[in-house]
Amino acid sequence: MGELKNDIQFLPGVGPKRAALIKRELGINTLEDLIHFYPFRYIDRSSITPIASVSPDVAYVQVRARVVSRNLINIKHLSVMVEDDSGRMEMVFFKGVKWTFDRLEPGREFIFFGKPQLYNGKLNMVHPEVDSPQENTSSRGVLTGVYPSTEKLKAGGITGKVMCKLQSAAISLCLSEITENLPDSIRNGHGLCPLQYAIKNIHFPDDTRALELASRRLKFEELFFLQLSLLKQKYVRSRAVNGIAMPVVGAPFHACYNALPYSLTGAQQRVIREIRSDMASGSQMNRLLQGDVGSGKTMVAVLSCLIAVGNGYQACIMAPTEVLAQQHFANIQKYLAPTGVRCALLTGSTTRKERRPLLEGLASGEIGIIVGTHALIEDTVKYKALGLAVIDEQHRFGVSQRASLWSKGPGQGSSVPPHVLVMTATPIPRTLAMTLYGDLDVSVIDEMPPGRKPVQTMLIGQNRLPGMYRFIKDQIAMGRQAFVVYPMIFINEKMEDVSNVEQGYEDIVKEFPLEEGYKVAIVHGQQSNDEKAFNMKAFVDGRANILVSTTVIEVGVDVPNASVMVIRSAQRFGLSQLHQLRGRVGRGAEKSYCILVKDPKTGAEALKRLELMCSTEDGFEIAEQDMKMRGPGDLEGTQQSGLPVSLNIASLSRDGLLLEEARHCAQDVLDADPSLQSPANAPLLRELRKDKYNIKDYSNIS
Ligand code: ADP
Ligand code: MG
Repeated sequence: MGELKNDIQFLPGVGPKRAALIKRELGINTLEDLIHFYPFRYIDRSSITPIASVSPDVAYVQVRARVVSRNLINIKHLSVMVEDDSGRMEMVFFKGVKWTFDRLEPGREFIFFGKPQLYNGKLNMVHPEVDSPQENTSSRGVLTGVYPSTEKLKAGGITGKVMCKLQSAAISLCLSEITENLPDSIRNGHGLCPLQYAIKNIHFPDDTRALELASRRLKFEELFFLQLSLLKQKYVRSRAVNGIAMPVVGAPFHACYNALPYSLTGAQQRVIREIRSDMASGSQMNRLLQGDVGSGKTMVAVLSCLIAVGNGYQACIMAPTEVLAQQHFANIQKYLAPTGVRCALLTGSTTRKERRPLLEGLASGEIGIIVGTHALIEDTVKYKALGLAVIDEQHRFGVSQRASLWSKGPGQGSSVPPHVLVMTATPIPRTLAMTLYGDLDVSVIDEMPPGRKPVQTMLIGQNRLPGMYRFIKDQIAMGRQAFVVYPMIFINEKMEDVSNVEQGYEDIVKEFPLEEGYKVAIVHGQQSNDEKAFNMKAFVDGRANILVSTTVIEVGVDVPNASVMVIRSAQRFGLSQLHQLRGRVGRGAEKSYCILVKDPKTGAEALKRLELMCSTEDGFEIAEQDMKMRGPGDLEGTQQSGLPVSLNIASLSRDGLLLEEARHCAQDVLDADPSLQSPANAPLLRELRKDKYNIKDYSNIS
């Protein structure tokens, strides 16, 4: 007993050297880790491909063939010609040459399993697995698991075959120790097989049906415990009276509201009602506000801040970039004019001289609303009574940054945190939102302000640039403005966007010369803040006709007069990012255009993305497709924040239905037994105590 926690080096066939390699490459330390390391796909060992039908396009094949001849080219290179009734093929070995030479006697038949490739126009296999026909059927089931591997593992002798052997040894040693972690009622209610059966069959499936049962059970379990931990945190927090009660709406809110130049959309009104009731409740608000680009989130943020101010607290709005913070500040000041609430801007480029009175104003409470970047959460910034933190475009902020906001509640160091409103314009697929924000309340603005016109999107090659320039000139002649965006290029993690965008700027200036009255501004990440602000302002104020930039303008920037968005090397952008960029136009009354310019060598995948952009403007559809095409791990905006717990077997893009089922199940369990105290739920509590669910830091951000 007690094998599960044993170090893998004691497993027969491992030893200290291999153990170190496995630990380093796969992070597997114990037998328990090992048996939770699953195959990522399976090969049907029952099917044999005739040599004539082998194609280099398939990942793996199995052929059954006789050895025709052996050719020992040198001590490290063996070439073996084999044939079946349909044709001949070469097998190549660079390791174990001597042993293999002796074994592969001409005339004998073997099963060769490996990856076919084209070499000098001929098919071969390098280092196929070689089995005698008897071995092949007796030693393994029909489906053989393929485990994730690395070059170093293979070089160290941990081949696929060896991994299977290790798994088999580990399972016979400790399968009986694995305890069921789902109560019978859940297993029966959802048609889930026992855990031991699932572990055995995920590695060595008896047949396809068994594999399916095993995989469904393990995926469900993974999604279920993740949801259970998130919902439990949400539950605990909503029960605890640990928020600032803000009972009134207050005069500043009404002053702003009554002076609005437009009426709020139904969706904006609904969301403000939700926020208002959260803030009045006495519990801490943790709300995610999702709304597509241009849906009017800023107004919602401002009115929410004014509720805090109306109740005697301060509010801050944190933006991911300096440019965006400045624009927010300018807009917000306009809205605040009728309220008399004092608002200030604090960013990295605020000078020391400006900072001093600002910090004093925050400490004394004279400043009601502060807008800024990360500078807002520096230690030196002390609030008199921070009651609400609004985080715009949250995906740009790391977990720890959000956590430090949390500590800035009224009466610093006290246990009462400010209310938190997280706003994102990145539409997030439902399954991902449920996981990333499973412990937050979510509001959605699903209605655009009236008057928005669809943006016409087209995809062109570089050969059509001259026509595009003429088109932009026509637009400028009608008084409009245009964005031209270049991708940021990272080489060795260093930003190398400057040459790219600067070359682009020169090209544009050549087409749109100053002598003909054109003015072109440029903004990129390497400029000083003053330079950036100066150029940006020239465009926002309408003095520049064209803004050439990298994606620094991606989020939030609002120039209603801009009617053209040109995206160069559009194939380099992800779908969500393209969607964000396109959202920069179509904000005014005029018809707007988005022109995607692809480079000559655009791949098929990228082309598919660009074509999707031309066919829809629905951010949620785009997000769903993005997730399908690239997997949630790569989804923009999620790399930094990441999933609270990494998924081992389930996939948010493929297992959406199972996730819904698991979440409902977790909700039902908590509804019936909120603190999981009933004996039947003991296994659940035990599982949740594991380190991987210790996601407290994650909950603090919210
Ligand atoms: P986002 O959700 O992208 O942050 P903004 O808050 O910047 O959107 O709003 C986009 C534009 O729509 C702004 O120019 C804003 O003034 C305008 N706007 C917001 N709400 C309304 C409304 N209810 N009616 C008309 N225009 C609105
Ligand atoms: Mg915005």
